Amino acid sequence: MRIYNPHKRILVTGGAGFLGSHLIDRLLADGNEVVCADNLFTGNKRNIAHLHGNPAFEFMRHDVTFPLYLEVDQIYNLACPASPIHYQHDPVQTTKTSVHGAINMLGLAKRLRCRIFQASTSEVYGDPSVHPQKEDYWGNVNPIGMRSCYDEGKRCAETLFFDYHRQHALDIKVARIFNTYGPRMHPNDGRVVSNFIVQALRNEPITIFGDGSQTRSFCYVDDLIDAFVRFMATPADFPGPVNLGNPHEFTILQLATRVIELTGSRSAIVRRPLPSDDPMQRQPDISLARERIGWSPRVQLDEGLGKTIAYFDELLKAG
Ligand code: NAD
Ligand code: UDP
Ligand code: UDP
Repeated sequence: MRIYNPHKRILVTGGAGFLGSHLIDRLLADGNEVVCADNLFTGNKRNIAHLHGNPAFEFMRHDVTFPLYLEVDQIYNLACPASPIHYQHDPVQTTKTSVHGAINMLGLAKRLRCRIFQASTSEVYGDPSVHPQKEDYWGNVNPIGMRSCYDEGKRCAETLFFDYHRQHALDIKVARIFNTYGPRMHPNDGRVVSNFIVQALRNEPITIFGDGSQTRSFCYVDDLIDAFVRFMATPADFPGPVNLGNPHEFTILQLATRVIELTGSRSAIVRRPLPSDDPMQRQPDISLARERIGWSPRVQLDEGLGKTIAYFDELLKAG
């Protein structure tokens, strides 16, 4: 029996990654204790280095495809590589991480009777035939393609979460996360925000795929983490799934132009062929999050880009 403590002891899987490390910062700032379980596949000790010596923080190198026995009050399950370059590196391991990882973390939550959060993704909608996507859209996913290990793994994890919820009355919170950016993104994972910023800071050509008229909507990481914590505090009768992201849309050409302006870069814009299956538009419908979580994003693109540029600037200078 743990001694009464108004704050919680919280497990964050994937806590050495981009989103996980920001979540840990927030949970610690709120006065909680945090255990981070991560196998450091795409995560980096640098993301949590500032927490060394903090008595409220504990790191354990652990792969979630293996069982984990410890005592906590809440679980955030974020462990999974997120960018195509990373999740296609070892697709079998990606599916195992989503599926076996979900089973193990759900088994842990079931034994502890504790609330558990799942980091799902807009990719469960696949190549959607309706825009924007609401949570009741079932998606259009190829089960045997290059992206399937990620998309189907995350879909199966959602199935497991809802079956543990129905079958074992487990208290679950499933969030479908849309494109997010900010400090601690991976510099080499091929995503548009990190690519453009790194190219601009090095005064190298900015690579626009296609004509740049395709649109995206990116959420700044602090806004997303705020949504996680608020969602986790909602009543148990709201398991989700809920879309979390920023509905503010802009074209890839606009993004390139703003990055050049904000960095004062001498980079030229160059065109590259548009990859196949590149969606023309992706935008979350967050009306459910607004209504049930009382959340909507606040950080404007320029402010978020400014902070992200400052991070990459330091990273590149450090070599
Ligand atoms: P990330 O790659 O930075 O972080 C993932 C973390 O999980 C890394 O630290 C990695 O080492 C760890 N990990 C991977 N496999 C593991 C395993 N088997 N056992 C233990 N740890 C393991 O990615 P991120 O952007 O921080 O994404 C975090 C979560 O959010 C992922 O589940 C991802 O699918 C989801 N998500 C992210 C985005 C986004 O825009 N960043 C969008 C949708 C969903
Ligand atoms: N599990 C775990 N930690 C726990 C309890 C369970 O990692 O504290 C894992 C264990 O490997 C198990 C899985 O979670 O296989 C699913 O647990 P559950 O109780 O749902 O199923 P069962 O043990 O009956 O297979
Ligand atoms: N993109 C681009 N140049 C790059 C990287 C990406 O023009 O160097 C485009 C890409 O074709 C897509 C958009 O930016 O239209 C977003 O790509 P990303 O891989 O970041 O995310 P996703 O396509 O999964 O939304």
